[in-house]
Amino acid sequence: MKKSFWILLSSLLATAALGQGVGYTDTPQIRGQKWKVHDKDRPNPPDVTPGSTFSNGAPPPSDAIVLFDGKDLSKWRSGKGPAKWKVENGYFEVVPKSGGIETTNEFGDVQLHLEFATPAKVEGESQGRGNSGVFFHKDFEIQVLDSYKNKTYADGQAGALYGQWPPLANPIRPPGEWNTYDIVFEAPKFDADGKLLKPASFTAFLNGVCIHNKRALNGPLRHRVNAPYEPYNGRGNLSLQDHGNPTRFRNIWIRPLGEYN
Ligand code: MG
Repeated sequence: MKKSFWILLSSLLATAALGQGVGYTDTPQIRGQKWKVHDKDRPNPPDVTPGSTFSNGAPPPSDAIVLFDGKDLSKWRSGKGPAKWKVENGYFEVVPKSGGIETTNEFGDVQLHLEFATPAKVEGESQGRGNSGVFFHKDFEIQVLDSYKNKTYADGQAGALYGQWPPLANPIRPPGEWNTYDIVFEAPKFDADGKLLKPASFTAFLNGVCIHNKRALNGPLRHRVNAPYEPYNGRGNLSLQDHGNPTRFRNIWIRPLGEYN
């Protein structure tokens, strides 16, 4: 059978699974919202052309923990071994099918700076284009995606708190250009009996444009489902997703905040 036939067939099946190719109709309603998880009818936020971004390529503050300075992945790991992604020219790149990478250290509430570039050569569509993600404590993903003229469901585009909240705007730069994330993540807090005292929340800027303002989450972020909170100590790794696309990262630093550090 010809390879092109299989590519056509798999793309048709993927499109069928996604409904219109840009969202779902068979997912549960998001708790506290009128939309379903990955709702294909949820409007996408407006495109915004970013201005200059103060932190793009800039040196970290003196008290930051530098997680990647352009040279090596010594602060990261793949499973229990060294991180398997490719480092070159001051950035590192996802090696598809090698798995995600995570920091060797754990953090609580943090300010994070990170830059990413989706592949200059545009391939795939919707969730298949430049997909990666920044995960806090394994459960809370802010999406990395090529959302430049790429239609996908609103709660899965670049800047989305995946499966719950679309960004307030779409200030993504074109494929191959560097985007900046400046994020404040607050971990959920639980009492001694495991009762939720305070939900996880994000404040985030993408390319200097505010895309989340103290946005609280109703539970961990997952594909297609509403997941409940499970109590933990409010600390965890930062991790980056291998979603099969060679997305690049550079200039990553973190500043621990608050009482959990
Ligand atoms: Mg992702």
